[in-house]
Parts: sequence; C-alpha cells; structure tokens
Amino acid sequence: MGTAEAVGAEGAAGTGRGTVAPPGLPPDNGAVVQAATASSNAIGAAPRAHLKPNVCAIEKGNIVMTRGEPSPVLARTLYVVATPIGNLRDITLRALDVLGEADIIAAEDTRITATLASHYGIKGRLAALHAHNERQRADEVIGWLAAGKRVALVTDAGTPAISDPGAALVRAVIDAGLAVVPIPGPSAVIAAVSVSGLAASQWLFCGFLPATASARAREIERLRNFGCALVFYEAPHRIAATLDALAASLGPERQLVIARELTKRFETIHRIPLGDAAAWLAADPDRKRGEFVLIVEPAAPSPPAEIESHDALLSALLAELPLAQSVRIAVAATNVAKNRIYERALALKKASAG
Ligand code: SAM
Repeated sequence: MGTAEAVGAEGAAGTGRGTVAPPGLPPDNGAVVQAATASSNAIGAAPRAHLKPNVCAIEKGNIVMTRGEPSPVLARTLYVVATPIGNLRDITLRALDVLGEADIIAAEDTRITATLASHYGIKGRLAALHAHNERQRADEVIGWLAAGKRVALVTDAGTPAISDPGAALVRAVIDAGLAVVPIPGPSAVIAAVSVSGLAASQWLFCGFLPATASARAREIERLRNFGCALVFYEAPHRIAATLDALAASLGPERQLVIARELTKRFETIHRIPLGDAAAWLAADPDRKRGEFVLIVEPAAPSPPAEIESHDALLSALLAELPLAQSVRIAVAATNVAKNRIYERALALKKASAG
C-alpha cells in the first residue's frame, strides 16, 4: 500500500508526462468539455516557456509559493485543484503544473477528468473519489500521502468541496497532519456573482435547495428574511419548480439573476423580477437546458413607517405613564429611532394638554 500502483488507481490519463494541447481552439471555441480532443504537445513547456525567472518566493510552512514561475509540486501534499466549468481554456497554469506532476489525481468521475487530462496531455493516474466512497477513499489517500506521493483532488467541474465531494477528504487529511494546498480557479458561484451586477455587499451561497417541494419551501422560508442576496445552484430538471417556489415565498418583486451555462456556448445571464421568471423560462424550451446559478437580490428595505402609525400606542402609554417611560416602551415595541418617538410623544402630550 502507499503507491498508486499498489492501490490500483482506476486509470491513467493521456500519454507522455509533459504534454499539452496546442493553444488553438476546438471548433466550439473550447466551450464544451465533452468536445475536447486529445493532444500530445509538451505540457509545462508551453505554459511555462514565457515566464520570467522567479524573483520572489514566499515561504508558507513547508509550502514554497512563487510569484510567476512554476512552484515545485510537493510530496505528502494534497492539492485541491479547480477545473473549468465549461470552457477548457479556463484551466489555470498552476492547475496544469500540479495535475501534470501529481502522482495520483483523485477525480469525481474519472471519465470526465480523463477528457480534460487528455486535452492537456496530463498522464497522472486517476483514482475515483466521489460522494459514495469519499470517506473510505480518504484513508487510502492519506496512505498515499504518508508514503510520499503527490495527490491532486478534482471534481467534474469547478472547485472541489463547493457543492461537490472533497470536504470530507480535506478534513481527514488535515486531521492526519498532512498538507492541503488550494489551487484556485473556476467556480460557478463566483463567476455568476461577478457578472450579476449585484449591488448587495453581502450574499449567501445556499448551494442546492432540497429536492422535495415541502422541504424546499421550508428552506426558502427560512432564508426569506436574511438581509443579503441568496445564491443557489440548480439543475435543469428542477429549475421551473425552484423558480415557482422562490417567487411564491419571496414575492414577485425581488430581482433575480439567472446565470445559465456560464463559459459555454449558450451562456445566458438574464435579469428579471422573480414574478416574471416562470413566464420567461416557459417562453423558450432551450432556456430550461443546462446548468444554472440563481441569484435573488435582498428585499428592498421597507420605507420607514409613518410615525403617526404609532399614535395609538403612544397615546395609551402617555395616558398611564410619564413621558420618558412611555418613550422607552414605545421604542422597544416599535424599533423606531428614539428621537422620532420622543418628538411625536411630546407633540401628542402638548395636543392633549391644549
Ligand atoms: N464545484 C462546482 C463549482 O465550483 O461551481 C459546482 C458543482 S455542482 C455539483 C454543479 C452545479 O454548479 C450545477 O448544477 C450548476 O448549478 C452549477 N454550475 C456548474 N457549472 C455551471 C455553469 N457552467 N453555468 C452555470 N452553473 C453551473
């Protein structure tokens, strides 16, 4: 145990360590992962050739982080590597460095990662690590790392552990006292928020809503009054039901951004009030296809209530209690600013005296 060979990793991707695809685009502009073709030019060479000699290295524990040139891919280290969410050219240079050097690539679906690896001429051994075997696989990964291997973790698309397998493995590796290093890159949530035009300074990533209608409605209800934008992932077979449920609970007026098929051929970013979303979706069957990020803007802050709406309460208090005490109770009951309540209480007191 302890080596990729000994543990029987599922397969090898591509041929010839050190190979990369030519920079030319496939016919679909590189947008569809499945359309990727194998290639056999030199990896490392192409992305690395233009880089200037390293001028600055940062030491972080046992990890050497360099500025601008490939860093060594270290033994006994788990690299959590983001991969494209559609457009193969969204891979980062560091992801190519790490995937090219890793002894083992733990992949959610080895067939999908094999396509990516083949496109970039990466030949690291692939081992399946998905939602159903993550915990038991974690022990094996720890064994490989302890034996000095370099392991990369990828999922089918985007960043591992973001609505994807990976968190349990990362936790297990941390608990085993071994190094975990992020190789950041694409993630649908970040891509969607970045083009949403969202004015809110805070947003909450909610991942996928529950599958059943009642649990989904309960969860949306729970999120309803959060004072920040809400970001959801959704799949095509549930998009219509989810839009209906969001409109029913959050009301028709909140603004929605639908970010569909990001970085792919049919990329769509559409902004619409929640109440109009179902009709927009139904207007063209193609709009239901693909992968979705939904961003619901926060409810507009309600205008301050007319101060007169609290007259009944204030008058009743003033009839029984001194001014200061009446104001204190009214502020606690209404959440209105103390100075506004005080001024109104004074006016009511004068009016009743005169
Ligand atoms: N780990 C991934 C990430 O970092 O974005 C997310 C994986 S999750 C299993 C898949 C969901 O992400 C899809 O159902 C969709 O909601 C969203 N997603 C992934 N790729 C997308 C894309 N190209 N456009 C829009 N949404 C996408």
